[in-house]
Amino acid sequence: MDIAASWPVPPQALPDIYPAKIGGLMMSAYEEVLGGQKFALALHQAGLEFAANKVPDLPFGAPARIYQALEEIYGEQTARGICLRTGRVMFRRGLRAFSGILGLSHRGFRLLPPAQKVLRGMDLLAWTLNHYSDQRVRIEKCEQEILLINERCPHCWELEKSSPCCQLPVGALQEGLAWACSARQYTVEEITCRAKGDPSCTFRVKSKSSA
Ligand SMILES: [Zn+2]
Repeated sequence: MDIAASWPVPPQALPDIYPAKIGGLMMSAYEEVLGGQKFALALHQAGLEFAANKVPDLPFGAPARIYQALEEIYGEQTARGICLRTGRVMFRRGLRAFSGILGLSHRGFRLLPPAQKVLRGMDLLAWTLNHYSDQRVRIEKCEQEILLINERCPHCWELEKSSPCCQLPVGALQEGLAWACSARQYTVEEITCRAKGDPSCTFRVKSKSSA
């Protein structure tokens, strides 16, 4: 099986831009979780003005500004819960938008054993983020863990926090794992975060059966 052979030539990633194609998925996910009125309030607090169905290319740190706005409005714990739920919704919306391009409905992908499906799915996620935005994402597999490492994470861009704060990607990964292999349970945790001075944001996916 060679899923990559069916991929189209990717568009050039734009520097320091969070592109509308992915931003639109994120904003409609936020709107679904928060409701239209609260979403509009959060956008205003973040200094961003657009309708959820007309999302332009955004500055790279726009996701971080929205997170910061949510924290200012709702406090840290609730804001992180909102981001987690938004990440889950965003994955489902992203799946509908990207499934055909990435070959996820390809029979060869669907029939992979669960562990290989997870690894392959995370490789495809990294590919998508690298090619459709200016993020720098790589996957490292070590023993029973898979690490997704993002050196340019837009979720905490220019933020300073005392603990890892990028819950939206955690939620997206959780939903992706549940979709890829519902029979198995995985934990997802952000173990390093640029907002607390680490060189990258690192998300660890670990099989519970290996714990
Ligand atoms: Zn981050």
